[in-house]
Amino acid sequence: MHLDFHTPALPFTLGRHFEKKKFQKILKSARINSVTLTGRCHHGHIYYDTKLPAKHPQLANDFLMMEVDACHEVGIKAPIYLTVGWDAFSADRHPEWLERKPDGSLYGFDDYGQLSPGWKTLCFNTPYLDYLKYQIVDTMKHFGSKLDGLFFDIVWQDPCSCNYCIEKMLNLNLDPTNEKDRISFAKLTEQFLKDEISAIVKGESKDCPVFFNEGNILPSIRKNLSEYSHLEIESLPSGEWGYQHFPTTVRYAKNLGKEYVGMTGKFHKVWADFGSYKNKAALEYETFLALAHGAKCSIGDQMYPDGTLQLATYELIGSVYRQVEKLEKYNDGSQALTEIAIVHPGIIADSELKVDLSLAGAVNMLNEKHYQFDIVDQWMDWTKYKLIILPDKIIISEELKRKIQEYFEKTDGKILATYKSGLDAENRFLPDWGINYIGKNTFVPTYGKYHGLFENHLPNGELVLHGEGLLVSPQGAQVLGDEYRPLFQRNYQHYYSHFQAPVSENKENPVATSSDRVYYFSHPLFEMYKRQGVLQYKQMINLIVDVALGQTVLKTNMPSSGDIILNHNEERGELILNLLNYIPQRKAIELDTIEEVIPLYNVKIVLSVENISKQINIDIKKIKSVKAVQNNDEIEYRVKDNSLEFVVPEVKGYEIVTLKY
Ligand SMILES: [Zn+2]
Repeated sequence: MHLDFHTPALPFTLGRHFEKKKFQKILKSARINSVTLTGRCHHGHIYYDTKLPAKHPQLANDFLMMEVDACHEVGIKAPIYLTVGWDAFSADRHPEWLERKPDGSLYGFDDYGQLSPGWKTLCFNTPYLDYLKYQIVDTMKHFGSKLDGLFFDIVWQDPCSCNYCIEKMLNLNLDPTNEKDRISFAKLTEQFLKDEISAIVKGESKDCPVFFNEGNILPSIRKNLSEYSHLEIESLPSGEWGYQHFPTTVRYAKNLGKEYVGMTGKFHKVWADFGSYKNKAALEYETFLALAHGAKCSIGDQMYPDGTLQLATYELIGSVYRQVEKLEKYNDGSQALTEIAIVHPGIIADSELKVDLSLAGAVNMLNEKHYQFDIVDQWMDWTKYKLIILPDKIIISEELKRKIQEYFEKTDGKILATYKSGLDAENRFLPDWGINYIGKNTFVPTYGKYHGLFENHLPNGELVLHGEGLLVSPQGAQVLGDEYRPLFQRNYQHYYSHFQAPVSENKENPVATSSDRVYYFSHPLFEMYKRQGVLQYKQMINLIVDVALGQTVLKTNMPSSGDIILNHNEERGELILNLLNYIPQRKAIELDTIEEVIPLYNVKIVLSVENISKQINIDIKKIKSVKAVQNNDEIEYRVKDNSLEFVVPEVKGYEIVTLKY
């Protein structure tokens, strides 16, 4: 678990009611085996006995050492949390260390102005970095061999215009008045910061586990990846992350070759929502989904300033962790059995949102139809996938061009691309696309009429396309759909009813094409699905996926509300099928939550043993047993034409089915 302890000055002694035995008993009874404890918090305060002036003003003893010792005594690990970017103690004493926007105002969290209570963000090109490094060494020396690891938080740099940054940018021949330069310099600073911290830590202890938290895991992590011992995916769905973030991020993080942990919180809303309790069903989903994706799980809480923990919170955590204790072994040491890869739009540019909308749309479309897929960057192996999806905005660099060529040469797989994916920086499509670029489509929205493989699968009429598309012409590709424009583009002079004008009769350019290896849609269907939820956008993508894959590894009648994640454990000779059905609802204005488990009955599963064998490179001759683990029930199955069919009688929230081969 992750135990926050951001504590300002107090009217009483810090940790005055801390009782070792009670603390140990609460953690043990909640089945916690590791707790990240706070060394230095966002108030800038330090919680162990130190000569540094930022020692918490009401600290009367070596509080953090007492906590660490208490944990170790009962076999619980206790890595230490150190803030990096938010430190109110330093911010108040050294306003010249703060990040500045071009107008001189600050960066920060929530309500953070000069007369406001929020966190102000520090700049790592200022002398603050020296203090930061000194404080890290101070912690490491104090805890010595007792240190189980360091969790660095708020490890990011905003595009800063402080005096220090301006000087450094000029030295690098970057233009501080240019926003793009400021953004790329901030990225460089972030990478430099991780290098600096990593060197300091390694100087004290070669094998101290380290994680740098920036509240997300994106392809930009690559530069510093070797400095991470593991990955923690901070993702509180009732906070700014939403239920979209974890399932998207974990599908990328799991391919980075590090141990990975999913971190949620016990709060109804987000960190420091004291006196609140996450609905149990929601907490189950958030931890079980981590297990299903092969991740470890962590739940966040915050300790009271008197050093006590709130009992009801640990009863809640315990009620979930007792289930985790029983279930966590099944996916441990397993790999996802996947046949599709979505290329992460973060390889082009970082999204301003927690999750890029195109990526979110693609993940939802595939997950809702229960395809087995990963998210990849260009440094991962693509050759094991039968289909590569380039969502909406994958502009082709020289490096990507080579990657795609290699994929075509080494496999007979296909590519599905939408909108700008496949264009190079000069607006030329790669030859394999079999189309030419004409320009932007000024009709927004417009309509498409689809034929070929779409026939009989879509409504027999025009389909509105709610997004800006491109105009393309075929250059060898087969046309699978044509644009039919509205009678006119809506504007102040010429509008029609409430929204878009109805469809006209003239056929325009293609909106969908296929060549030997590439399926292409001229509109950003993935982002459009995330924004508008038009079922037909998903159906079109699903049809292409089905055609491209031939037979999928898995088919099911599970509704789109469920998650199915298929893993493989070679050592145990076992397939692990994770079935979850938890349905986040938007009942409140501010957040989604899950109140109850809604059981599903008789979920039919058809596995293609032949395709699974190919995918894992092991010839599965025979399945020896199929078992639902929640009640240890054997499941009857039958083999039919290389397929294995069975029915899972009940999925009450989370069920794991293991198949021994
Ligand atoms: Zn700066």
